[in-house]
Amino acid sequence: DDPRSRFWGRNAGAAAYVAKERARTELVPEVERVLNVAQTSMLPVARRAGRRAQPMQRLSEVLDQLLFRAVVSSEVRRLIHHTSDRERFCKGLVNIASEVADYSYLVLRLDGREGPTYTIHARAPLPEKPDPLVLRALQIPSGPALKLQIERETDEIAPPGTRVVIRDMADFPVEAASEPLGELKAFGARKRLGGEDRQTLELIATETGLLAKNVFLLEETRRLANSDALTGLMNRRRCTETLESELTRAKRYKIPFSVCICDVDHFKSVNDRFGHNMGDEVLREVARALESVLREADAIGRWGGEEFLTVMPETGLEGACEVAERMREAIASIPAFEAGPDKVTSSFGVAEYSEDANGAMLVDRSDQALYKAKEGGRNRVVASDKE
Ligand code: GH3
Ligand code: MG
Ligand code: MG
Repeated sequence: DDPRSRFWGRNAGAAAYVAKERARTELVPEVERVLNVAQTSMLPVARRAGRRAQPMQRLSEVLDQLLFRAVVSSEVRRLIHHTSDRERFCKGLVNIASEVADYSYLVLRLDGREGPTYTIHARAPLPEKPDPLVLRALQIPSGPALKLQIERETDEIAPPGTRVVIRDMADFPVEAASEPLGELKAFGARKRLGGEDRQTLELIATETGLLAKNVFLLEETRRLANSDALTGLMNRRRCTETLESELTRAKRYKIPFSVCICDVDHFKSVNDRFGHNMGDEVLREVARALESVLREADAIGRWGGEEFLTVMPETGLEGACEVAERMREAIASIPAFEAGPDKVTSSFGVAEYSEDANGAMLVDRSDQALYKAKEGGRNRVVASDKE
C-alpha cells in the first residue's frame, strides 16, 4: 500500500487496485465491479471473455486488452520526437497503425495552413500514381495541389488503371480539445473491418490529435520565424540562411549562382507624399510583382526597409541580369495606385558568386552595383564587375 505500487497498479493497465491488507473486504467487490464495467461498456473481448467460465481467464483477457491499449498509446506518443517533421510524423503514425490493425488501406489526413496532406498506407496493391478514380475510392480529393505520400506494405504495384473496390470504411476524427485537425480513415477491400481493429484505430486517432496540435504549432512557429510580416516573403534572417546554404552548395559542386539587390527608387517621397500606410501598400505590391516573374528555384526575401534580395541558384551573371530586367519591368508596370503614386520604379545591383567570396562580400558587390544604378539615373539594372 505504497504510492509507487498504486501508481504501477494503475498505469500497468489494471482497472482497479486493492492493497493486500484490505483484500479480505475489498477484493471481491472490486473484481465484480471491474467485470461489470468491462461487460457493459468496454470491449468485445471482454464480452467474449464473459461467456467463458473461468473468472481468472476473463480477468486476464481484460487486463491483456488494457495493456495492449496502453502500449499502443505510448507508441503513438513517442512520435512527439517527430512533430517538427510532418512527413516523418505521418509516416510513423501509419506504420504503428499497420502493426496493430488490419485493413486494406489506411488514409491519414492532416490539415494545415497550406491545405491538408494525405498519407496512405496500402496493404493491398495500389498503382504507382493513383488516378482520380482510385483517389475517389479512398475519399481523397484529387487536384494539382494534392499533397500525398504513400507507404506500401508490399513491393507489388498495381498496373495503371487498376480499380480499387471498397467494401467497408471507418473514419475517426483527429482533434485536439474538439478542434478538428484531420481524420484517420480505414478501408476494407477484400473483407470488412473487424470490431477490435476499429477500436484500436479510434484510439490511435485520439492519441494523434494531441500530437497533431504540436505539428501545427511547430510549423506556424517556423513560418513566423522565417517570414516578413509585411510582404510574406522570407525575412532577412532566412535570406542569410538561404545565401549561406547556396554558398556551401556552390563551393562543393562548383556551380554558379547569383544574387541581386533591388531598391525602390525615391521611396522616401512615397511615404512623405502619401503617408506610411500607402508606403506599406506599395511595398506589398512591389513584393508581389517581384515574385510573379521569378522562377521556382529562385528565392526572394525582404532584406531591409525597401530593399529586396534575390538568390538565383545555378545562374550566371548574364542570366541573373535578365531576371533582374524582368523584375524591373514588372515593378515599372504596376498600375497607378489610388491615392498613391502613379508609377513605382526600382534599381537593381547584380553579382555572381566567385570562389573567393563569402555571403557578405556578395551582398556588398551587388550593393556597389546598385549604387551605380542609382547614380546612372535609377530604374535600371547594373551588374557588378566580375572579379
Ligand atoms: P533612392 O532612390 O536613393 O533609393 O531613394 P529612397 O528615398 O528610396 O532612399 P532611402 O533609403 O533614403 O529611403 C528609404 C525609405 O524607406 C526610408 C524609410 O522611411 C522607408 N521605409 C523603410 N521601411 C519601410 C516600411 O516598412 N514601410 C514604409 N512605409 N516605409 C519604409
Ligand atoms: Mg534603401
Ligand atoms: Mg530606395
